[in-house]
Amino acid sequence: MTAAEKTCGSCQVCCVALKIKTPQLRKAAQVPCPHLVTKGCGIYESRPPVCRSFLCGWRLMPDLDASWRPDVSGVMLLPLPEAQIPKAYRAAGPGWVFVISDARKAITPKLARLAAGMVKRRTAVFLSVMTPRIQVNEQLEKVADDVEGVMRVLNQVHDRLKPAGTGKGLGRIWALYRAQVDRMRAIMEQKP
Ligand code: SF4
Ligand code: SF4
Repeated sequence: MTAAEKTCGSCQVCCVALKIKTPQLRKAAQVPCPHLVTKGCGIYESRPPVCRSFLCGWRLMPDLDASWRPDVSGVMLLPLPEAQIPKAYRAAGPGWVFVISDARKAITPKLARLAAGMVKRRTAVFLSVMTPRIQVNEQLEKVADDVEGVMRVLNQVHDRLKPAGTGKGLGRIWALYRAQVDRMRAIMEQKP
């Protein structure tokens, strides 16, 4: 599937996961945008420039098929601006943050192979749940030929990233949001 053929469809992960701080729109990470409605963006035609220009890694990478769409895969790939990439990794081009919303869905051999391929090319790779991100290159380089080893490192780093004591990872917040949307939809469908 080419990048041009991909559309967001019913995915709304970036509208919840990302922190947005622009003159037109401010929202915290892991909080649904106030403009998000059941069917998607409630101001789609006039959405701010930051939203018009944003594409996640699934939209940007032609090699990633439909199973990588963030709401399906449990992971959103976020391109990292050059200024935020450690100098030793800049020559390899853009870095990537793997934003995990559902670790059980996301941390699979498929993700392990993608991450291992990136670290072998010296691409900067970070793991995040939109709390602080952790660069994983050095840990993954040691196990890059061992899919199980890569998954073990990703799971260990994900465990370190989970918000301490709250139990409210992005997946939990997303589930609460979806439940609220479903309740509102049920109420609307009951109205004459
Ligand atoms: S996370 Fe990607 S696929 Fe999902 S809505 Fe945002 S840009 Fe579209
Ligand atoms: S304005 Fe629309 S596209 Fe932008 S974050 Fe909010 S819901 Fe998503």
